[in-house]
Amino acid sequence: MISDEYIEYARCKNCNKAFPVYQFVGDTDMGMDSWRAFTNSQTGEIWVQREPKDSAWSPGAGYAEVRVKYYQLYPELMGCDFPEWSKSEFTNVPVYECIYCGGEAFPTHSESKQEFAVHSKINEAGAI
Ligand SMILES: [Zn+2]
Repeated sequence: MISDEYIEYARCKNCNKAFPVYQFVGDTDMGMDSWRAFTNSQTGEIWVQREPKDSAWSPGAGYAEVRVKYYQLYPELMGCDFPEWSKSEFTNVPVYECIYCGGEAFPTHSESKQEFAVHSKINEAGAI
């Protein structure tokens, strides 16, 4: 798989817990739909799996697939100040479904895969 993926952290507005979200990067038509990423709510580890056919498939206990609920245009919800926001290339931000309570979680910061691997773990697996 390509190597530009990164980790985005999201913090829940409801329960205030933060969790990492694996971000796929690539042009369209790269077959990205065949990859799915899961975050473990107990260990914070990430599991990336190619083509789990069953939508109910899970890598194991504690893992949840982080879903994007919708996209939000307002920068104040990102937790960064406006000068920082205005330098950003992004015009909207994803709002994730909290893996702990189902509430709305907003991105706070990101890490490269290498940075993430220093303190946690990414499990990448091939097709089932
Ligand atoms: Zn929550």
